[in-house]
Amino acid sequence: MNDINPKPSPKQMPVLFVGHGNPMYAIEKNDYSDTWRSLGETLPKPRAILCISAHWETHGIKVTAMPQPKTIHDFGGFPQALFDVHYPAKGSPELASEIIQHIKSHPIEPDMHWGLDHGCWSVLRCLYPQADVPIVQLSLDRTLSPDDHYALAKDLLFLRTQGVMIVGSGNMVHNLRLVEWENKGGAPWAITANDILKALIVDDNHPALIDYTNLGKDVQLAINSAEHYLPMLYILALKQAKETISFFNDSLEMGSLSMTSFFIDEK
Ligand code: ZN
Repeated sequence: MNDINPKPSPKQMPVLFVGHGNPMYAIEKNDYSDTWRSLGETLPKPRAILCISAHWETHGIKVTAMPQPKTIHDFGGFPQALFDVHYPAKGSPELASEIIQHIKSHPIEPDMHWGLDHGCWSVLRCLYPQADVPIVQLSLDRTLSPDDHYALAKDLLFLRTQGVMIVGSGNMVHNLRLVEWENKGGAPWAITANDILKALIVDDNHPALIDYTNLGKDVQLAINSAEHYLPMLYILALKQAKETISFFNDSLEMGSLSMTSFFIDEK
């Protein structure tokens, strides 16, 4: 891995699930982005980051393998200032190739066309503003079941001892059809769903979280299309015995979005 940072790292890198929410949070000063910035100052600096974002859905699994990924502005209707953001973190063809070689359970294709989507860069530009940590993205293969995603995530565990930080970016509760633009909190169903999911996370009840379609009507509304939820399953699958979960940005926005985020490490 010559194209990634040579810095020494802890025995096992923490893993993070980050609720990214509105893309404007990336350029506004607010409680969420303030927390991302301060977290970036306290977390170890990884040799590279593997990001699983809600915004890269594919058929078949892909991993970005270009040396310099472009910043993708995969949204519309936002101010020019957001389109002007470029996050010049490098990629890591070597890390991509190592992932492809290591994972035997599924074929993984190197991708030279994607880049960094806003699920990835909106958060990481605040966590690592110097853009000095190479980033590789792994796509969400929507032909896989939640069980398959969870199992695939476990195959990524080897990266944690190689100084690679794995970051999932989505939103635990996310239903754009039910957005209430003026609401500075959550609708009652969204609060209930967030509480149900958090309780299962704290209890390490991963089977129930994988089988989320059986968690009742409020959770059904919260996970209506699942792409913002699945990155969280990847991060939970990487939790080891004796590790603890620390929540941050634990609040709801616009009625139907939860920013609830967490990192997992050994205290
Ligand atoms: Zn999103």
